Amino acid sequence: MNLSDIREKVKECRLCRLCEEANNSVPGEGSENADILFIGEAPGKKEDEMGMPFVGAAGKFLTEMLSACNIDRQDVFITNVVKHRPPANRDPLPDEISSCFPYLQDQIDIIQPNVIVLLGRHALNRFLPDLRISDVHGSAMRAQGPLAEKHIFFPVYHPASALYNPKMRDTLIKDMKKLPVLLKKIKKSNVSS
Ligand code: SF4
Repeated sequence: MNLSDIREKVKECRLCRLCEEANNSVPGEGSENADILFIGEAPGKKEDEMGMPFVGAAGKFLTEMLSACNIDRQDVFITNVVKHRPPANRDPLPDEISSCFPYLQDQIDIIQPNVIVLLGRHALNRFLPDLRISDVHGSAMRAQGPLAEKHIFFPVYHPASALYNPKMRDTLIKDMKKLPVLLKKIKKSNVSS
């Protein structure tokens, strides 16, 4: 299986109600060899129109932050915990997140990223259900549990939450700037282990 296979499966998926009102599926995009995998919450209006993740205002901000970290957006992979837009941008429901999780798990297994950046509380709590984003943002962690034990996670606030909140925006930029250093450390420890 490769990322194109997942894209096709997501396009045809009817496992939860989110496909009913969506215009397009949004499986994710980026490099199959990405060192960094970004996981957000759900597609929004613009993403639903275009079938691409993080193409609205929050996506623009994410791309700006990546540039500031000297990371090319084409070199990472960006997706969400659910692949169809929830109506009126409501939060995805637990059963929708569970139904959609096998696609995300397959993406992680194929890409094998060095670090998984969890954008906001929905992505965080899918893997690390007991943690609060306000407590752990900007800290790399390897967690216990069947969903989490193999990976290094780096939770940050969701870019959308920082758009109109200057304090949150500064915090998010500060956290994201730790990412290149973290990646370098992980790669170094992978080489020496
Ligand atoms: S959100 Fe996920 S589980 Fe629900 S229909 Fe879309 S692809 Fe399937």
